Amino acid sequence: MARILQADYLVVGAGALGMGFADALVDHSESARVVLVDRRSGVGGHWLEAYPFVRLHQSSCFYGVASSLLGGGALQTSGPEAGLQERASQPEIVAYYARVLDRLVGTGRVDFLPDSDFDGHRTVTSRVTGEHVEVSESCRIVNAHYLAPTIPAEVPPPFAVSEGARVLPVNDLVGLEDEPSQYVVVGSGKTATDAIVWLLARGTDPDAICWVRPRDPWMLDRARVQPDPSIFFGLAADLMQSVAVSSSLEDAFLRLEDAGVMLRVDRSVAPTMAKAPTLARWELDELRTVEDVVRHGHVRSVSRGRLDLSDGSVRIAEDALVVHCAADGLKNPPLVPIWRPADITLQPVRAGFPSFGAALAGYVEATRTDDVEKNRVCGPSGYGNSLQQWAAMNLLGTRNAQAFSSEPAIKEWADGVALNPARVPPGHPGSAALDDARARLAEHTAPALAKLAAYC
Ligand SMILES: Cc1cc2nc3c(=O)[nH]c(=O)nc-3n(C[C@H](O)[C@H](O)[C@H](O)COP(=O)(O)OP(=O)(O)OC[C@H]3O[C@@H](n4cnc5c(N)ncnc54)[C@H](O)[C@@H]3O)c2cc1C
Repeated sequence: MARILQADYLVVGAGALGMGFADALVDHSESARVVLVDRRSGVGGHWLEAYPFVRLHQSSCFYGVASSLLGGGALQTSGPEAGLQERASQPEIVAYYARVLDRLVGTGRVDFLPDSDFDGHRTVTSRVTGEHVEVSESCRIVNAHYLAPTIPAEVPPPFAVSEGARVLPVNDLVGLEDEPSQYVVVGSGKTATDAIVWLLARGTDPDAICWVRPRDPWMLDRARVQPDPSIFFGLAADLMQSVAVSSSLEDAFLRLEDAGVMLRVDRSVAPTMAKAPTLARWELDELRTVEDVVRHGHVRSVSRGRLDLSDGSVRIAEDALVVHCAADGLKNPPLVPIWRPADITLQPVRAGFPSFGAALAGYVEATRTDDVEKNRVCGPSGYGNSLQQWAAMNLLGTRNAQAFSSEPAIKEWADGVALNPARVPPGHPGSAALDDARARLAEHTAPALAKLAAYC
């Protein structure tokens, strides 16, 4: 017999989205009882298994839960990013979510079931004891893993590995004892760029790195994605203006590059990937020192001294270490309404800021009763991947922001939450740059949305 859990919500997944939703829901409802469940042994989701040298690619203040500012809003005071907001490291993120859980449990309204699998219906099974627990029919299921990223530590490389070839997930770079004569980094995303920057920082010769980049990525200049309203609204205005006057989606990205918003490693190659993580210019300089770039499609197999790819083969050193950075990362399943009869499926709302989207969904769930109305004010925007998906994400994200911002109570809440990048905090003195950005947004947003709709 399964034990019955008394709860109003079963939140499946205690990563950024589940924690962000639960935090706002508990704070803005009078009595909601929440059970958080995760098959991992703690809260924080994929960060628990992330490579040790990872940091947030965005400012800490844009990540976490609404009730507690990750990193305290501090600026970096030294190093190549001095003046930019702090970016939390993996241990800092994990410790932060542990403190958030303590606070939630301390309310007396939240329980956490670690090491436990949700079966897709109403039952949770402990991976340790095998015990089953059930939630009642009235308990709402919150799917907080719909867009959970896959990471190299947890999925095998998407290519065959012959005996004698050395392939390691990115996590295992740290602590490596026998240095190879060549590192072959496989992947085009943030994990690959992190691995290369880390290798270079510890003295690896750039010529000892081969970068297998099936696609070239567009990335956002980190200095432009900062919580100062003059900076963030300037970014949004440049985005809308560049798209509004563009003749094609590719042209829009080139205009964004000219406006200092988008970065690419190689200016002679047209990127086809736009997950658009942020990158600092010093990192870009470092990445550009790696000249051995392989663009023959995806790796099919690795054998000693050789890579076979979808569009050709290349020789690598006999002792080469192939670094697996080729997990999917962000997911792109079809977007679904956040509120459906069967569940609440958490997804980003404003483009590119998943923690804010989860908190907003929690706030809306706590303060409204009608699911149709909740979906009207809080729609999903997903993640980017191809240029077209980036266009769709920005189109939906902007429409969603227009919808929730036109609701006075939601706008007031969102203006007080640091996770929301596009806010002018109460008491902000204003600036000429902010006025200029707002004027350009007013002029260019409608034509830009029409272009984005045509591009995706
Ligand atoms: C390396 C990296 C860096 C990133 N940096 C940033 C950043 O700087 N800023 C930003 O905004 N985004 C960033 N992201 C994007 C990412 O979307 C967010 O980090 C976010 O943490 C994802 O949270 P999530 O809750 O969707 O997924 P997860 O963190 O994966 O959490 C989902 C949880 O659900 C659990 N689960 C799934 N199915 C079940 C089940 N059936 N039963 C029980 N438990 C289940 C999993 O165990 C998991 O812990 C980054 C992503 C990666 C990979």
